[in-house]
Amino acid sequence: MGGRQVTDWQGKHVTVAGLGVSGIPAAKVLHGLGAAVTVVNDGDDERARAQAAELEALGITVRLGDGATLPEGTDLVVTAPGWKPDKPLFTAAREAGLEIWGDVELAWRLRGPDAAPWLAVTGTNGKTTTVQMLASILRAAGLRTAAVGNIGVSLLDVVLGDEQYDVLAVELSSYQLHWAPSLRAHSAAVLNLAPDHLDWHGSMEAYAKDKGRVYEGNRVACVYNVDATDKPSTEDLVREADVEEGCRAIGFTLGTPGPSQLGVVDGILVDRAFVENRQKNAQELAEVSDIDPPAPHNVANALAAAALARAFGVPAKAVRDGLRAFTPDAHRIAHVADVDGVTYIDDSKATNTHAAQASLAAYESIVWIAGGLAKGATFDELVAGAAKRLKGVVLIGADRALIREALARHAPEVPVVDLDRTDTGAMLAAVREARALAQAGDTVLLAPACASMDMFVNYNRRGEAFAEAVRELASADG
Ligand code: ADP
Repeated sequence: MGGRQVTDWQGKHVTVAGLGVSGIPAAKVLHGLGAAVTVVNDGDDERARAQAAELEALGITVRLGDGATLPEGTDLVVTAPGWKPDKPLFTAAREAGLEIWGDVELAWRLRGPDAAPWLAVTGTNGKTTTVQMLASILRAAGLRTAAVGNIGVSLLDVVLGDEQYDVLAVELSSYQLHWAPSLRAHSAAVLNLAPDHLDWHGSMEAYAKDKGRVYEGNRVACVYNVDATDKPSTEDLVREADVEEGCRAIGFTLGTPGPSQLGVVDGILVDRAFVENRQKNAQELAEVSDIDPPAPHNVANALAAAALARAFGVPAKAVRDGLRAFTPDAHRIAHVADVDGVTYIDDSKATNTHAAQASLAAYESIVWIAGGLAKGATFDELVAGAAKRLKGVVLIGADRALIREALARHAPEVPVVDLDRTDTGAMLAAVREARALAQAGDTVLLAPACASMDMFVNYNRRGEAFAEAVRELASADG
């Protein structure tokens, strides 16, 4: 079934792995094209049965309670991105010489290259923010665009839909990239690389390799992070990629940019890669103060978005206008309130140590609220790096002892309040304790470095609980 455009689906037996947000639309589309579709699913709870009934009514076969065995006669497997590559279903498919496509691969093969050029973004942290900034910049340039992919907008819907696009800002996860071997973007960026999802990928090398796939076959630019030098670096991934002739490696840095880089000089975002006027060797794009919030990691996101937009030929003014028009999603370094000279910031989305490190680096004197589910992480590096900025720490959640121990090792002077509870009311208590530790000029920062599910439905709820608690204290004071 090789080739970019698969047109003849009649009589092809496709096995779709996983009922869910990607599996159900994939099954419907393939069925509509004339393929004989079987959906296999591990679970067979009530919800799965209802979904199965809906698909069966259309003529799609569904097998519940067994996601492991490959159905007889399968020609192609299309999988939900989250399914681990070592599943027996895939082993059997590989042994039979079959291709396995993820949701992104399916969209790409069906109509990806024809729908619009893709500007792709991946990385451990900052993907959603960066594609949103990118879409905002592209829109400011008058282009028809959308932020799609892992951000929660199905690529399949977009490439097969009626709406016309000039260019797409595509967020891709490492899982999606793993299952998208033939994707070829116009240009792509890997924002950063820190250990994450290693249980799925098997090792840091495998994780980096999957992220690096985003550069494969790029036509115009491979955008990498000059400042992220841990091995393998994003620049290493560019070097290893097989790209089209003439495709350039473009770096972004928070420092002064070299040739073929975008960077920052005296509070101004400067482009030394795509300079229109040959008399000049640098083009001013925007000011750091145009970026919301202007925290260092977010300036890096803006530079990556600008690099991709410039690779697509967007003028400098649209970069500035697009960045000014951008507002971040909730719970990402969101300013909640200033109470008695103390600033309260909600970065509930900092669900891993790498993200928390970025937000801790953005403030000078911090009372830090942290803890939750650690997902196997260690906290020594995070705590050692932030120790000088910590005024105090309030710990919540199931795995808080891990952070407490790291604090004892690397920041023994910093006062720590250990809240021995995981009920949702603990957030109000945490904010109260944080307020007691803070003085005017300090920042109380919720950047948990952990997942939220021990105490909350999700990180949104955790951030809301924090904001509610801050407001409650403020009004009690007022
Ligand atoms: P993703 O889509 O990759 O999860 P988001 O844009 O939603 O990324 O941001 C998630 C969290 O990661 C934010 O709350 C912020 O704390 C942190 N973050 C954002 N950008 C970066 C970056 N460039 N480097 C490190 N951390 C970042």
